[in-house]
Amino acid sequence: MNRMHLYVISTLLLVTGAVASAQTRPEVEFRTTQVRDNVYMLAGAGGNLGASVGEDGVLLIDSEYEGLTDKMISAVKAISDRPIRFVVNTHWHFDHVGGNEALAKAGPVIVAHENVRKRMSSEQHLLGLDRSVPPSPPGALPTVTFTDRLTFHWNGDEVTILHVEPAHTDGDSIVLFHKANVIHMGDLYFAGMYPFIDVNTGASIDGMIKGVDKALALANEETKFIPGHGPLSDLASLRSYREMLATARDRVKALVDQGKSRDEVIAAKPTADLDAKWARAFGPDLWVGIVYDGMTRGGDPPAAGESAGPKPVP
Ligand SMILES: [Zn+2]
Repeated sequence: MNRMHLYVISTLLLVTGAVASAQTRPEVEFRTTQVRDNVYMLAGAGGNLGASVGEDGVLLIDSEYEGLTDKMISAVKAISDRPIRFVVNTHWHFDHVGGNEALAKAGPVIVAHENVRKRMSSEQHLLGLDRSVPPSPPGALPTVTFTDRLTFHWNGDEVTILHVEPAHTDGDSIVLFHKANVIHMGDLYFAGMYPFIDVNTGASIDGMIKGVDKALALANEETKFIPGHGPLSDLASLRSYREMLATARDRVKALVDQGKSRDEVIAAKPTADLDAKWARAFGPDLWVGIVYDGMTRGGDPPAAGESAGPKPVP
């Protein structure tokens, strides 16, 4: 199978993901990797999960597609006999929050940045994938939200959930396991491939680069990175991904500054020399279009939450 087929098929999988996930997806198996100490990465069909396991219970990062929860719980049980107590969503996309409702019924508290809850509460449209996503059922919504950061003192580690300015969405968090020296990047990081950027939320390639820089500034040579998609990574891999983002940004920006239209920018194939390596989940045209869109249009603000009580805290 050539590369063209590969990325068309994976893009198709992403686009049809929610439909396919209504079934239990018998072909999906979770692959578990011990990242360091009591931090694990679990890879299934959607976003990579992170897990802190130990006496305090399991803190899970993200919840996969809908329909995979039983399998996901079995995978967690294989590394811990303690209950899942918290689930943190790195952002609102269905391949990271799809298991929320089924998981929450079993007990854990769902935690996320406030814009994750806002985006999940109303219909969203994924620009570039031409796909609408209906509001999530109330039982799937995060019940604890935060604006800037939140720290769990958990299983002998400090685990900081750190919101970054709009990058992949406007509700992104990265998760820092300080003692284990591991960072879960959410979808700021598609390891080894062009990422998706949810431009309609005000996200852009500039935001992606800033977010990656924030993580790089907090890391050292020993830090391990759990990407939202792709294999477990080290500092060198994240740096080379950052370089690719900056190159794509600079080239598309030069064309935009020349007044080229969206179609003209795509036709100019500004990432041609990068495509063989990075066009895996998304093809060059989709990728260049996303970069262009993020530079040329502002996002739609999240719907304001209704409040009948005290005034919102400024
Ligand atoms: Zn995502």
